[in-house]
Amino acid sequence: MENYQKIINSIYSNLKNVTDTGKVADYIPELGNISPDNFGVNITTIDKKSFGVGDFNKKFSIQSISKILTLTLAYQLEGETLWKRVDVEPSGNPFNSLLQLEADLGIPRNPFINAGAIVVCDVLISHLQNPKDEFLAFCREISNNNELKYNEKVAQSEKKTGYRNIAMCNFIKSFGNIKNDIEDVLDFYFYTCSLEMTCQELSQIFLFLANDDFITQRGKRVLTMSQAKRINAILLTCGFYDESGEFAFRVGLPGKSGVGGGIVAIHPDEFCITVWSPKLNKKGNSYKGMLFLEQFTTATASSIF
Ligand code: GLN
Repeated sequence: MENYQKIINSIYSNLKNVTDTGKVADYIPELGNISPDNFGVNITTIDKKSFGVGDFNKKFSIQSISKILTLTLAYQLEGETLWKRVDVEPSGNPFNSLLQLEADLGIPRNPFINAGAIVVCDVLISHLQNPKDEFLAFCREISNNNELKYNEKVAQSEKKTGYRNIAMCNFIKSFGNIKNDIEDVLDFYFYTCSLEMTCQELSQIFLFLANDDFITQRGKRVLTMSQAKRINAILLTCGFYDESGEFAFRVGLPGKSGVGGGIVAIHPDEFCITVWSPKLNKKGNSYKGMLFLEQFTTATASSIF
């Protein structure tokens, strides 16, 4: 096995003092209070060996990375009919764009842009009695980690300022692709985005996408092999919005970013890796996170290509 600790330490120290041209997301006011200097990395292998460097044990808001978790639970509950409500095509547009919804009659291009995740939240509300509690219980179960929590302040902060998401949810409802009450769907969506995790927790929770044989502590599979393969495929093509091509080109792994500055990348059959650095590039993806992962897959020859 590669000496992961040595490799991540060395890339980390190369990048630590590199000038970061990114900006912390402050359109959610509470995220603007995070120190831009946080920088952490953690890798967990499918045999559960974990290697971390920097701020890998500090909690942060996972934001859009939660879209993988809501999709996973919705796919588990709804099965293939889910794809009638949300497509699996790259959007080539920013994560919060409303542009294509008009032409596409309220069917979001994929589950990893805001529009798609909002529809997925609606699907979950139709299946669950108490969506916030049951979704959190699902995350705790698949990661065997009872420490996971929503960040109330972040959820409320986004709720107060989430004008585009509110517009989007109403717009989709006008096409009939939101079945539940707008207020309930948005409240649930904002809470899922506010989930907090450390780099280490994040690289552990996604092992079910890296390991075909993954079962939870209670002996249950999370997804079938075919479903996990499909989620990885959508991550590769859509995980970074209109920078998904660039991420595949530079890093070459399925992955997902969030405006909290986290990026998760998955190497099927080998590992999950998380990088956290809050300053974002113009596409809303962590500037140093992308750089780190590019250097990491180069140093370890671990792109899937
Ligand atoms: N909560 C954020 C939003 O809806 C998530 C976006 C992201 O992380 N890209 O704007």
